[in-house]
Amino acid sequence: MNQKQSKAIALQKLYEPYKECFACPLSISTKHKVVCGQGNPNAQLLLIGEAPGRLEDEQGLPFVGKSGMLLTKALTCLDIDRKDIFITNSVKCRPPQNRKPTPQESKAYKHLLLLKEIDIIQPKVICTLGATALECLLETPVKMEAMHGKKLSFNGIILIPAYHPAYVLRNPTKFEAWFKDLEQAYLLAQNK
Ligand code: URA
Repeated sequence: MNQKQSKAIALQKLYEPYKECFACPLSISTKHKVVCGQGNPNAQLLLIGEAPGRLEDEQGLPFVGKSGMLLTKALTCLDIDRKDIFITNSVKCRPPQNRKPTPQESKAYKHLLLLKEIDIIQPKVICTLGATALECLLETPVKMEAMHGKKLSFNGIILIPAYHPAYVLRNPTKFEAWFKDLEQAYLLAQNK
C-alpha cells in the first residue's frame, strides 16, 4: 500500500465509529448526520469551517449550503477543484438553531477528530474559515478583523485565518479580503 492509499484508509477508519454516533450532547439534540471531512486525503490545503448547517446535516457533507456555494465559487475562481483539497469542520454535528458551538464543544471535537484529521492529512497549509475554527486551534478568543490573512503556524503547519463565507455573505465588502486570504493559502500550499 502506498502513502496516498494509506491516508485515505486511515481517514476511513477514523470516521467509521462516528457514522452512527449519538454519544455527544449535540448528537442527541438536532443532528441527523455526523458531517465528517470531504476531499482529497493527500491534499496540501486543508480548509476548516465551524459546524454543519441544516443542509450539511441533511446531506452529511460539509459546505453544501449557501456558504458552501460561495466557497465553491471562490475556489473555482482560483482554479481549485473541491476534490483536490480537503474540507472539514471543527465541530461535526449541527448545533441547535445553528448556534455557534461552545468552546467546550469545539475542544471535545478537536481531540476526538480534528487533530487526528490534521495528523493523517499532514497538509502544507491550513486555512481556517471564521473565528470558531481559529479559536478551536489556538484555544484563545480572536478578532477576525485583526487576524485574517496573517501567516501563523499550527504544529509546524502554515496557518492562514480567513473570514467565514457566511460572514462574507452578510458583509459583501469583505469579499475581496476573504478571496485574497484564500488565494494566499492556496499559493503557499503550492509552494508559491
Ligand atoms: N458552515 C460551516 O462552518 N460549515 C459547513 O459545513 C457549513 C456551513
